[in-house]
Amino acid sequence: MAEAAARAARELRARGVGSSIDQFGELVRDTATAGRVAASYLELADQVNALPADTWLSIDLSHLGLDVDPRGCADHLAAIAARLSAGRRIQVGAEDFSRADAVLACIETVARQGLAGRLGATAPANFRRTPRDLERLVAAGVHIRLVKGAYVEPGGRALPFGEPTDLAYLRLAHRLAETRAQFALATHDGLLREALLAALGPRPVEQLLGVRPAMADELVARGVPVRVYVPFGNDWFRYWMRRLAESRGA
Ligand SMILES: Cc1cc2nc3c(=O)[nH]c(=O)nc-3n(C[C@H](O)[C@H](O)[C@H](O)COP(=O)(O)OP(=O)(O)OC[C@H]3O[C@@H](n4cnc5c(N)ncnc54)[C@H](O)[C@@H]3O)c2cc1C
Repeated sequence: MAEAAARAARELRARGVGSSIDQFGELVRDTATAGRVAASYLELADQVNALPADTWLSIDLSHLGLDVDPRGCADHLAAIAARLSAGRRIQVGAEDFSRADAVLACIETVARQGLAGRLGATAPANFRRTPRDLERLVAAGVHIRLVKGAYVEPGGRALPFGEPTDLAYLRLAHRLAETRAQFALATHDGLLREALLAALGPRPVEQLLGVRPAMADELVARGVPVRVYVPFGNDWFRYWMRRLAESRGA
């Protein structure tokens, strides 16, 4: 594991904050590369198992070859999930709308192998399909990370950012609270978060590394569990610049 990611996880733990480490990458287009990525994630799982217990993993399934070999991708994901020690999970990211069916199917396939307790999914509030997908994720028994969504999609597929997405986020969080699902509010939007914490009681919150870090400390002091997403690898800067641009509607 990049030493910097391990150091970040230890520093976060010292502040009472968990982490989710992502060996950054996406859009792999051949099975050999997907195999190499899976092998390095297995090593990463071993390293994460030696870190504090609330250190998890994150991954985008297109990095594991989802686009070229969905079955192989599910096998890789299952192997990584199985490698994690009890209490840890691998959180699967939400990608663009065109991959949503394949991502959901892969998570369900792996969860059915007795691995739901090692798996997490990401639900983007802006996608119009998410209320239906959420029911399937709840039924699959995986942890659910609720996000606003980083991908700009046509109006028929996604709600505009701003009030429509924020309202969807509120409704989805309330729906999750009605279920037995374990879930986290992954947002830096203070109004949204506080409205939900006031209504639902303490719930885990997730943030991105470097975004509003003081907020994490304040939440921990209030007894709210916090986990921070920690990406490492060559492409992370390009990735976040794109996400930031997209989230501003570029
Ligand atoms: C743990 C985690 C995992 C995520 N995983 C995914 C995923 O798998 N798929 C996906 O589509 N999206 C993912 N996202 C991104 C998410 O969908 C949003 O695009 C992002 O979190 C911004 O939305 P917000 O809820 O923080 O609210 P916003 O209203 O966008 O942000 C609230 C405030 O937070 C600050 N802020 C937010 N984001 C940034 C940033 N990147 N840089 C600097 N300041 C910022 C700004 O001050 C902003 O005004 C994830 C987010 C988190 C926290």
